[in-house]
Amino acid sequence: MKIAFIGLGNMGGPMALNLHKAGHEVLAFDLSKAACDKVAEGGVRIGGDANATVQGAEVVISMLPASQHVEALFLGTGQAKGLLACLPAGTLVIDCSTIAAASARKVAEAAKAQQIDFIDAPVSGGTGGAIAGTLTFMVGGDAAVLERARPVLEKMGANIFHAGSVGAGQTAKICNNMLLGILMAGTSEAIALGVANGLDPKVLSEIMRRSSGGNWALEKYNPFPGVMETAPASKGYAGGFGTDLMLKDLGLAQENATAVKAATPLGGLARSLYAAHSLGGHGGLDFSSILQMFHKAR
Ligand code: NAD
Repeated sequence: MKIAFIGLGNMGGPMALNLHKAGHEVLAFDLSKAACDKVAEGGVRIGGDANATVQGAEVVISMLPASQHVEALFLGTGQAKGLLACLPAGTLVIDCSTIAAASARKVAEAAKAQQIDFIDAPVSGGTGGAIAGTLTFMVGGDAAVLERARPVLEKMGANIFHAGSVGAGQTAKICNNMLLGILMAGTSEAIALGVANGLDPKVLSEIMRRSSGGNWALEKYNPFPGVMETAPASKGYAGGFGTDLMLKDLGLAQENATAVKAATPLGGLARSLYAAHSLGGHGGLDFSSILQMFHKAR
């Protein structure tokens, strides 16, 4: 299948590589040359710009930071036309970015007017899941369009859930990430408390992992440096899932909560914690660096 892949960052890069390894004809593009070079090293061909990249593609996949990037790419800005205006009817567009459900619906409506199939398919599983091809996809859109997308999604993920109509994938994703933000902050707070009392972070983490405090952060993504070799915490909090991206997701959760009058006090507190952490100059570090709010490295 001919696939165009736009956005080759921490997640999009390994996802595009997995599609290439599975035998698809992938043409990819990112505004960052460094991101393009990394993927090109793995054998993926790079397009000149987004427009040139999607020419002749049956499937277009985007993996961009936030709503404004996805809207600008597909709908255009000012005089500049978006990709939807250039794609032929019948193209399948899969947006894997985490964005506002309202933005996903806006792009889906414009796609429908051009007889282009669209699903929102945000992911969970982190960069480890993207590299291993074991991501979880949370899909919003028509069931028939999901079936069309399934063979492609299966090359990048292990779990594919149909959350509901367009935008529902994004709603599921922000519920999940609100919980993740809370759990990572809480896990950091608990480890820091133990360490301040002289406990070994490795021993304490293992105790909690096997006890009632066990959670994904303790299983796969320990925030304390040196506890888990593969976690961003042990690599200077480089790569992974940026603090500013987590802040964006917690903001989306609060906007959504306001719209439906939901009470999300812990989500609101988590958003403020990550905002303060970002203001402290750590927006580009992996989100597990929130530990630094509670623990001072010696
Ligand atoms: P990233 O910042 O590493 O990568 C985003 C890439 O998009 C960058 O390389 C940037 O240059 C590129 N880009 C921006 N605008 C572009 C445009 N118009 N055309 C082409 N390229 C463009 O981000 P990431 O960590 O890969 O995350 C991507 C999305 O996935 C975000 O919405 C994030 O919330 C979500 N997500 C991330 C993780 C994770 O662990 N990193 C996990 C799940 C979901």
